[in-house]
Amino acid sequence: MKPKCKCKCGEPIAIGRARLGYMTCLPCGDREARKMRWPVVSGHKSSFFVVTNPEDLQQLNPKRVGG
Ligand SMILES: [Zn+2]
Repeated sequence: MKPKCKCKCGEPIAIGRARLGYMTCLPCGDREARKMRWPVVSGHKSSFFVVTNPEDLQQLNPKRVGG
């Protein structure tokens, strides 16, 4: 019994995931989830990056310039 849905990468989607409404396989879904879960700090204009090191945050805050 295979799920009908297939991920864009071609991998079949686990039935459990498909039932939950996921349209991606586990690796792709995990990648998307990381994007949402990880803290993202806005840096320069229209650019942002994932902060993996708390020290990066401390460096960012003092640099923050208004306007
Ligand atoms: Zn996939």
